[in-house]
Amino acid sequence: MIQSKGYAAQNAKTPLGPFNFQRRDVGPHDVMIEILYCGVCHSDLHQARDEWGGAIFPMVPGHEIVGRVTNVGTQVKNFKVGDLAGVGCLVDSCRTCSSCKEGQEQYCEVHWVGTYNSVEMDGKTPTYGGYSNNIVVDEKFTLRISDKLPLEGVAPLLCAGITTYSPLRQWKVSKGHRVAVLGLGGLGHMAVKLAASMGAEVTVLSTSPSKEADAKELGAHKFVVTKDEKALQGVQNYFDFIIDTVSAQHDINLYISMLRLDGTMILLGVPPEAPQLMPFNLIFKRRRVAGSLIGGIAETQEMLDYCAEHNITSDVEVIAMKDINTAYERMLKGDVHYRFVIDMATL
Ligand SMILES: [Zn+2]
Ligand SMILES: [Zn+2]
Repeated sequence: MIQSKGYAAQNAKTPLGPFNFQRRDVGPHDVMIEILYCGVCHSDLHQARDEWGGAIFPMVPGHEIVGRVTNVGTQVKNFKVGDLAGVGCLVDSCRTCSSCKEGQEQYCEVHWVGTYNSVEMDGKTPTYGGYSNNIVVDEKFTLRISDKLPLEGVAPLLCAGITTYSPLRQWKVSKGHRVAVLGLGGLGHMAVKLAASMGAEVTVLSTSPSKEADAKELGAHKFVVTKDEKALQGVQNYFDFIIDTVSAQHDINLYISMLRLDGTMILLGVPPEAPQLMPFNLIFKRRRVAGSLIGGIAETQEMLDYCAEHNITSDVEVIAMKDINTAYERMLKGDVHYRFVIDMATL
């Protein structure tokens, strides 16, 4: 076994603290990565506090991992020692169901193995995430990382990047489309950058006027304060797509009415209570409400290559490992531009 160290939550109530644990030895198809940076996703906090239920403790969160390959198994073909590599939200799946065969491992019909707070395909071995010094992953679930971009800004692409890239590609967002982004956090700021890079006209919808300058700087063309009745009138029946990244309670009917004929609202955030849908609001304009979950491995690689080519990274605030609990508190207040990333050299 490989000795690893990281930061873990021992239960839902106590802060994260140092934790020593073991990872499996490098198998024939495995890649071992020395972790350099790990992004801090809002879902890390939800899971460490067991807000979604079923949490497995001790829990080492983190699924926005970039680092350098330090060892490879005898059968590994695509990685060698010294390469940059990344790991996102999933590290294995059944590999045989129809979703897996289509490269949509995140929709595996049997079981997909989360990078942490999950169990391996054996059904019992817990997985530990990227708030740690190293990780061992099958090369099929390991991503190639370009050396063109700053690594700390690349880490959040592994979750926030792919979560927003995948629906934009699924619905073929391009020039001529009007896209609204709801919520300007980790996901939202990536949605703005990516949708703008694909040629869409991007509008940020926000309750706070203070975010306008930031939104425009990220590449948004328009900014609408949703508390301003007059501004709202101007975007009735307007958008082709709304990317909804908000995980706090909000009235989605207000936003659905901004969709034009055949427009689609894409849900990426998970509010604590199910939204109340008004059927008339959908029926009269043939509008749709859809959801989307991260992305498959092939699409994640495509996204990373796209971002390297278009010079797209996440805007980050680099923190030391010991400051993770403070970072969680600040994240709860929305006090981050736009993603915390842990510099693993500080572990
Ligand atoms: Zn995430
Ligand atoms: Zn499967």
